[in-house]
Amino acid sequence: MTYFVDHLKKLIHRRHFTGDACEFMSTPVDEREFTDSHTYIHQLKEHNAYSPCPNCRSFQRLTEQVKLQD
Ligand SMILES: [Zn+2]
Repeated sequence: MTYFVDHLKKLIHRRHFTGDACEFMSTPVDEREFTDSHTYIHQLKEHNAYSPCPNCRSFQRLTEQVKLQD
């Protein structure tokens, strides 16, 4: 699993779940980071108070909303 790290908002996105609701692309390039390291992600959560992105976690519900909009 690859992670997208948003250093501006202190959020950790999951690559496959990241969507428009995450607003990851609105974060400046130098505040974004991509990683495969579970150790690094764990450190960000434990020591730097980073949180898993709620939009990525509720991906299931998000896709249902998208379907309804279509
Ligand atoms: Zn996200």
